[in-house]
Amino acid sequence: MNFAFVSGNPALDLAATVGSRRDTPDDALATPSDLERWVAECDELPDRVTADAAGFESALALREAIYQLALDRVLGRPFDQDSLEVVNNAAAEPPPAIELSDAGLHTSGDLPAVLSQIARSGIAALADPQACLKECGRADCTRIYLDRSRGARRTWCGMEECGNRVKAAAYRARKRASST
Ligand SMILES: [Zn+2]
Repeated sequence: MNFAFVSGNPALDLAATVGSRRDTPDDALATPSDLERWVAECDELPDRVTADAAGFESALALREAIYQLALDRVLGRPFDQDSLEVVNNAAAEPPPAIELSDAGLHTSGDLPAVLSQIARSGIAALADPQACLKECGRADCTRIYLDRSRGARRTWCGMEECGNRVKAAAYRARKRASST
């Protein structure tokens, strides 16, 4: 299974590792090794991190707290206090070390550093009054993403992930309707 990084923010991408949250939640992070793979695939995070059972639990707690706060933002209501505490505590840890070379940027750190980085990115987006947070237009998706398009006119989290699926389904429905 491949992870999608289309939310425009690693914290929102982490929150979106649970899809279809309202109906039949579909969790892409079943084990600590799924989390290690997710971190490795995320561009903004270290390539290699080790997650034990306790670290995995903290990552999932951070993920749910970020989702809760992002949903609070989307719905325009005050932030959930417990979730604020989880995210702020994660952000209080030192973030990963960064190093520049001719090969580009190298990021390294352990799991608490990774979670700190994720929490910090999430906080930056959630604190920005200009940031346009939206829930994907495909009802089953429930991914919250940052719409950075001009005039904030994006409807889907990603064309490949959802836009094309909705369009294909609408096409099939039209075809069915015209053939009956
Ligand atoms: Zn979507």
